[in-house]
Amino acid sequence: MRDIAVVGAGMAGCTLARRLVDAGLNVQVFDKGRAAGGRMATRRADRLQFDHGVQYMTVRGEAMAAQLADWRRAGVAAAWAPVGLDTSPRWVGVPGMNAIAPRMLWGAEVHMETAITGFGRDHLGWWLETAQGRLPACFDAVLVTLPAPQAAVLFGRCTDVDVAAFADAMPCIRYAPCWALMLSFDTRLDAADCLRPAAGGVLGWAARDSSKPQRDGAPDCWVIHAAPTWSQQHLELTVEQIQPLLLEAFLSAVGATTAPSLCRAHRWRFARVVEALGRECVWDADSKLGYASDGCLGERVEDAFDSANALADRVLQGGGPAPKAEGG
Ligand SMILES: Cc1cc2nc3c(=O)[nH]c(=O)nc-3n(C[C@H](O)[C@H](O)[C@H](O)COP(=O)(O)OP(=O)(O)OC[C@H]3O[C@@H](n4cnc5c(N)ncnc54)[C@H](O)[C@@H]3O)c2cc1C
Repeated sequence: MRDIAVVGAGMAGCTLARRLVDAGLNVQVFDKGRAAGGRMATRRADRLQFDHGVQYMTVRGEAMAAQLADWRRAGVAAAWAPVGLDTSPRWVGVPGMNAIAPRMLWGAEVHMETAITGFGRDHLGWWLETAQGRLPACFDAVLVTLPAPQAAVLFGRCTDVDVAAFADAMPCIRYAPCWALMLSFDTRLDAADCLRPAAGGVLGWAARDSSKPQRDGAPDCWVIHAAPTWSQQHLELTVEQIQPLLLEAFLSAVGATTAPSLCRAHRWRFARVVEALGRECVWDADSKLGYASDGCLGERVEDAFDSANALADRVLQGGGPAPKAEGG
């Protein structure tokens, strides 16, 4: 096995790329977004930046601890100690959450703004297609790392191979949506860096993004996340309708009346896993098709990382790289 396609460049796709490149395989990564990282995202607007998806990472297992040590050595992750939360260790990408992905993807061939719309297999191997048609490459294995509802669409279009194990697994994974609001204020708000409002209201979380390390501390940039139930109830409103609702809830939570200089909303349809598959990954050793994501194990970055590592183990057990031709 030599040529691997990874669909999706979030934490799961990036982890697969890192492991398989390190093992000597040729890895191509395809993602529909403009920047790698998936939900580990940083939005730039009017020369300001906001981590509007993942807020911080925590570390439980040894593998993630080793990975974090590598990120810290490379200068792409640092500790964040916000005022208003307990002092347990929290880690963020620097200078933005999306700084982690490029470090992981080194050595892989990365195709951004490339939405995969289908895949299948013929006598040459696996092929992928986009809205423009079939890509001019074939692969020994395809590893899908999309949120389950998006992966289900792809598996549903694959008719060349029996993908029942994948199609059956995807509906078991369920996500809650999240409306996010990015705010900037010219004058610093008189508030702690983090608010965790009581359950049952509009807000689920609010954090001063500019209190993270290596962010430009002024002006005062905030990321607000609506509570999951509220987000679900208001999922189909437009960003223009959502912005004033979340802004009002936030200002009243911090007791401020200041108008923000920037106010943008973003909808995450598949934000946090609420029901995981309960298996590390899905792998068919015969066809060499695999699935990994946070949805296999839980709701955190480390779950996506662990799931992808488990899939990388299966892929590498299933056949390492063919020896490279001399001088090739
Ligand atoms: C608002 C929010 C807050 C969060 N807060 C935290 C937190 O504080 N701590 C924490 O640990 N976790 C948090 N999470 C969860 C965390 O983001 C995820 O667990 C983790 O990032 C998932 O990684 P992944 O690789 O499985 O999926 P993703 O990051 O979703 O990656 C999937 C990738 O697939 C791409 N894609 C989708 N469809 C296609 C297609 N057809 N073709 C090509 N590419 C495609 C997407 O562009 C994306 O890059 C949060 C998530 C959100 C949204």
